[in-house]
Amino acid sequence: MNSISRRAMLGKASLVGTTVAVGLPLAAAETPVQQRPEVGTKLKVIVTGGHPGDPEYGCGGTIARYTDLGHEVVLLYLNRGEWPENPSLDDAKSVRIAEAKRACEILKARPAYAGQINGAAIVDSAHYEKFQRILEAEKPNLVFTHWPIDNHADHRAISMLVYESWLRMRKRFALYYYEVSDGEDTLQFSPTHYVDITSTEPRKRAACYAHASQTPDKYYGLQEMITRMRGVESGHKQAESYIRHVQSPDFMLPMAS
Ligand SMILES: [Zn+2]
Repeated sequence: MNSISRRAMLGKASLVGTTVAVGLPLAAAETPVQQRPEVGTKLKVIVTGGHPGDPEYGCGGTIARYTDLGHEVVLLYLNRGEWPENPSLDDAKSVRIAEAKRACEILKARPAYAGQINGAAIVDSAHYEKFQRILEAEKPNLVFTHWPIDNHADHRAISMLVYESWLRMRKRFALYYYEVSDGEDTLQFSPTHYVDITSTEPRKRAACYAHASQTPDKYYGLQEMITRMRGVESGHKQAESYIRHVQSPDFMLPMAS
């Protein structure tokens, strides 16, 4: 290629770039203002999931790393996961609640429930308000939720409920998306952040197996394929991966690599 044609091509390329840039809407300039926590500051982390087990399968190794560092973690489930769900059933008689309680004990986290019905998630203005009140009462520094491109309506629902609360709460907390049961549930997930879970994977595994009614032999094996692949990508034996919202504070993964 001679210099004239190269200049001509560069000129053409820059013209194309200018045209494209002008045609795009401006990116939102609003960036949340949040002070970097001091070393030793105790963080409040909420990991939301459509059902008991989702936070454990998607983020269990990361949860254990947070609690090992002395941070407080709440696993907030959209519903109790029972099928058919019976809202009047005494919590003390619920197998799924007992399993989630045991899983949270293993991870040193606390379970909480958003009060919806398994398989019948509602996303409307009343439920946006109810969910926001739950998050405001918890005062989180950081929230994890399902990546919204997901084949399960309950997963999509809690992702939307978290997102709307994040906007209404003026992006006060860091917002990260996680993957779970890729292919069956999560789709088109391209991570921006990785957490090495090599040291905490045994506790993640135990927490997932605490959900004994949910065929953990099948589902943990599938999830471990993902954490091994994310480990290959990030240079660890096993890793969990996340997508940070582009307008979220980015300093809340103390163990991110
Ligand atoms: Zn689920």
